[in-house]
Amino acid sequence: MNILLFGPQGSGKGTQAELISKKFNLYHLSTGDALRSEIKNDTALGKKVKSIINAGSLVSDDVINDIVLSKYKIISSDTNYKGVIFDGYPRSYEQWVFVQKHFKIDAALEIHIEDEESINRISSRRMCTTCGKNYNLMWLKPKVDGHCDIDNAKIIQREDDNPIEVKKRLAIYHSQTAPLKIEYKKIGILHVINGNQSIDTVNDVVSKVLTSLKK
Ligand code: AMP
Repeated sequence: MNILLFGPQGSGKGTQAELISKKFNLYHLSTGDALRSEIKNDTALGKKVKSIINAGSLVSDDVINDIVLSKYKIISSDTNYKGVIFDGYPRSYEQWVFVQKHFKIDAALEIHIEDEESINRISSRRMCTTCGKNYNLMWLKPKVDGHCDIDNAKIIQREDDNPIEVKKRLAIYHSQTAPLKIEYKKIGILHVINGNQSIDTVNDVVSKVLTSLKK
């Protein structure tokens, strides 16, 4: 079972992808996390994409498609996983063309929130500097102030989570990523979920959709 999970910044797709991947034995493939790991490890690719990400722009389709395909090849030979949850991919029409050529997709799940809510949520989002776990100072606080629950490392605000870049990323989301909904609808895989609900409620709705796919 391969799932696309998308929504604007702060919609909670990373959190839901984490929960759902565990529940349904899916590999959580986040292109954003993959790129941040390249930056953290100071690889040649990391050096190339750092300024693009911090400016809130999209990394080129070729780079992203290569990352996804090489990860997918490794995952598909691992019997621990029953499929993949693509988090934050595809984000452009070209990426969607690539997806159709290489993967069978069972559902595309949109976690819908309005822009105003997205901007509010992002201002209080924090991320662990070591494991990348997301927190929110409003409703998903760490147990110890400023430190990750998993590894006790410092939690910080992402460089691309400042108001200027967030607005830019939202504009890109509306012009390039959200229009893919038309494509998903055409082939009957689109499910829209109200993201203005608690994490548990959104998770229940997402779980019901995935369970119905297995029948
Ligand atoms: P995210 O963690 O999903 O918010 O992604 C963080 C940043 O990584 C984005 O703002 C883009 O710069 C880059 N990125 C992540 N996924 C993609 C993608 N599918 N296509 C292009 N750029 C991406």
